[in-house]
Amino acid sequence: MSTPESCDPEPGKLIPVVDHARCEAKRDCVEVCPYDVFEVRRIDDADFAALSWLGKLRSVVHGRRTAYTPRAADCHACGLCVTSCPERAIKLKRAG
Ligand code: SF4
Repeated sequence: MSTPESCDPEPGKLIPVVDHARCEAKRDCVEVCPYDVFEVRRIDDADFAALSWLGKLRSVVHGRRTAYTPRAADCHACGLCVTSCPERAIKLKRAG
């Protein structure tokens, strides 16, 4: 995949944060990220426990799968994941 012009040349200043209560594991973030930051997998027990009852219900309906950011330090802040997420579940936040 080619690198978008909006990319920051230096990685890791901003990192994507996924709202697990909103994420429906549709994988758009996995598909669009030029730096392979995301993976979609089963939600961790602690993250599931932290959800509201409505969030738990949504998670179960979607197979308890959600997006994680194992390579967040590689984020170049292009914003593609933010705009591609149909559930508006991703925000970029300053790292550290
Ligand atoms: S903003 Fe999102 S799509 Fe762009 S590099 Fe960072 S994690 Fe990947």
